[in-house]
Amino acid sequence: MSVMTKFELLPAVETFLKQSPFASFVGGKDFPAASGNLIPTIDPGSGDTIAEIHDLSPSEIDRAVEIADEAFPAWAGLSQQERSSILLRLADAVEADKAIIAQIEALDAGKIQAQAAGDVQNFVDTLRYFVGLADKVELRNKLDVPGHDAWTFKQPWGACAFIFPWNFPFLLIGWGISPALAAGNTVVIKPAEDTSLSALYLAQLAKKVGVPDGVINVVTGRGATAGAALSNNTKIKRMSFTGSPEVGQMVGESCGRNLVPVKLELGGKGAAVVFDDVDVKATAEALVGAITFHSGQVCCDATRWLIHENVYDEFVKHCVDRLKEVKIGHPLDPNAQMGPVVNPKQCQRVLGYQDKGKAGGAECLYGGGAATVEGYEGNYVKPALLAGSLDNVAAQEEIFGPVAYLAKFGSEQEAVAMANDTQYGLANSVWTKDNDRAARVAESMTAGNSWINAHNVFAHGVPYGGVNKSGMGGGVLSIETLMDYYRSTSVVRPLG
Ligand code: NAD
Repeated sequence: MSVMTKFELLPAVETFLKQSPFASFVGGKDFPAASGNLIPTIDPGSGDTIAEIHDLSPSEIDRAVEIADEAFPAWAGLSQQERSSILLRLADAVEADKAIIAQIEALDAGKIQAQAAGDVQNFVDTLRYFVGLADKVELRNKLDVPGHDAWTFKQPWGACAFIFPWNFPFLLIGWGISPALAAGNTVVIKPAEDTSLSALYLAQLAKKVGVPDGVINVVTGRGATAGAALSNNTKIKRMSFTGSPEVGQMVGESCGRNLVPVKLELGGKGAAVVFDDVDVKATAEALVGAITFHSGQVCCDATRWLIHENVYDEFVKHCVDRLKEVKIGHPLDPNAQMGPVVNPKQCQRVLGYQDKGKAGGAECLYGGGAATVEGYEGNYVKPALLAGSLDNVAAQEEIFGPVAYLAKFGSEQEAVAMANDTQYGLANSVWTKDNDRAARVAESMTAGNSWINAHNVFAHGVPYGGVNKSGMGGGVLSIETLMDYYRSTSVVRPLG
């Protein structure tokens, strides 16, 4: 096991990786798989195996949930002030170790290191945001009901389960568990089998800063066994799943059978609608930035670019000019702007969609195919621009790579109809100087989120979630998310 990168690893990262093979971390200690089965963790930038993780069995997953359940009463029983101060200590510790976690994440997920550092900071900000909200929530709310003394009382649910994908491993953990923990629930986290290391680092750090044992548990293993066991578990009180619609449906079915409330954050096929009054060059560069950010492995990305016919040719020219400058490289290379995709399977998926799109009549305006980075056998692909009819498979299905599909429109009405021609409903953007038109189009596109003159905007306090094939169950990042992690009891006393 070695990391064959010519870029220097932080001593703390080297020390951490030496713990391999990594057991899961449950109840404040290592929690190995009795089978001894291991899953390799591979640096997507080099193809090197950098660690191994334990592959838990379904019964071991069930035991982890029991441990989270046992830890719940004491954690829920702390005062909000005590709980908040522990969680703020964790936020501080994560911030202090930002460079370490970012490097682990870069090696594990193939994420450009500076972007990984942004994800770690986002985790810290998210945890602080939800702790701040929980400090102010009124748990008892008097109801004004004639003839009755009535109120509602809110309390945490118990052990909550989380299943995460590989594209934003650490950031999504922050989005998921922060509201649950702040409200007084305990959590069982199942990271993706490709990218479990930052979750394990977090669990160890939580122990160091005094988060009580059993409050934050990380279970590692394969989706079809460990993930399925967690979503089938009848003791979990809530489930939050982030990942593909296909697996989301299975998780939703299990939770439906067990009557466990479920939140599904799924894939997308977002549109960017560009009118002819914009700064064409700046807009082209912003959208190239969106599609190359984390090699396009971003659920809310703009992957269908709908461009007003008056500026289409100019827009394409600026995109191509900018794309030619994008430096593809190893995630630890400080000059790299776009890293690899996560694994060879994802690489084949991206290249396969390019081929299927072209076979279905799409024109390739730029790029495509595999990319090479000297000295590394990683999963590198070139960004690509395809164009043509929107019924093409590459315009309809989520590719999850640096591929945009372009089409022209003539009128606002046509643009909205084109944007809404999808099964997904996660995030779209509209680009225009006309604020009234921007607001109209933003509200007409069927999705959980619309952005104006920007793409991929996340502010704490603005709810983020999907509709249709992109998800259900309330979304993340706002006061509503925190409230999802309290159950409510109404109490009524008839008067006189
Ligand atoms: P995936 O659905 O293959 O896997 C996600 C997680 O589910 C992993 O931890 C995996 O181990 C687990 N899993 C797999 N099979 C399972 C099963 N049968 N039962 C329970 N769990 C199982 O998704 P992925 O390939 O890791 O991630 C990419 C997808 O995630 C894309 O569709 C992307 O759009 C979506 N995504 C959505 C959001 C959002 O906020 N809406 C954010 C990030 C990613």
